[in-house]
Amino acid sequence: SNDYRVVVFGAGGVGKSSLVLRFVKGTFRESYIPTIEDTYRQVISCNKNICTLQITDTTGSHQFPAMQRLNISKGHAFILVYSITSRQSMQELEPIWEVIRETKGNMEDVPVMLAGNKCDEVENREINFSEGEDQAKRWKSSFMETSAKTNYNVKELFQELLNMDKNR
Ligand code: GDP
Ligand code: MG
Repeated sequence: SNDYRVVVFGAGGVGKSSLVLRFVKGTFRESYIPTIEDTYRQVISCNKNICTLQITDTTGSHQFPAMQRLNISKGHAFILVYSITSRQSMQELEPIWEVIRETKGNMEDVPVMLAGNKCDEVENREINFSEGEDQAKRWKSSFMETSAKTNYNVKELFQELLNMDKNR
């Protein structure tokens, strides 16, 4: 079909909605508004055609398991977000990655970006850049540190994900 579905996962408060809103609308808000689940659509070019990029911003790790499985089985590509200020938020990604692997089987064909968000918060850093890189290697994903707040690596995050899929 002409839909390309990207699903964004991660613990509550790591900045999933902020990254998506920064990318889709160019905005940022300081307040925390917990997400139910939102999907944003954008028309993009792919293989000299146009298709619809569909970005699903999930509620986080406490999603209903059935919802999580549905999002994973329908998703073509995934962004796993943690905050560099929270080791816990990195640990919460592990079970999500496991479900993606169980559902998709061969991870070589599944574009996954690991994003260490809030990299502007240097004074509260709990996870080094190299720890993020190492985790990404284990998960056969690409890695970037991002900041939705300062708009650092946000466009690049989505662009890199789209570039990873040669069949798109
Ligand atoms: P979500 O639960 O993962 O969707 O997280 P949100 O996008 O709602 O963000 C949670 C809180 O973190 C909000 O107060 C945001 O303003 C803040 N936040 C999000 N991204 C960043 C970032 O890159 N840097 C900083 N300093 N704060 C951020
Ligand atoms: Mg949210």
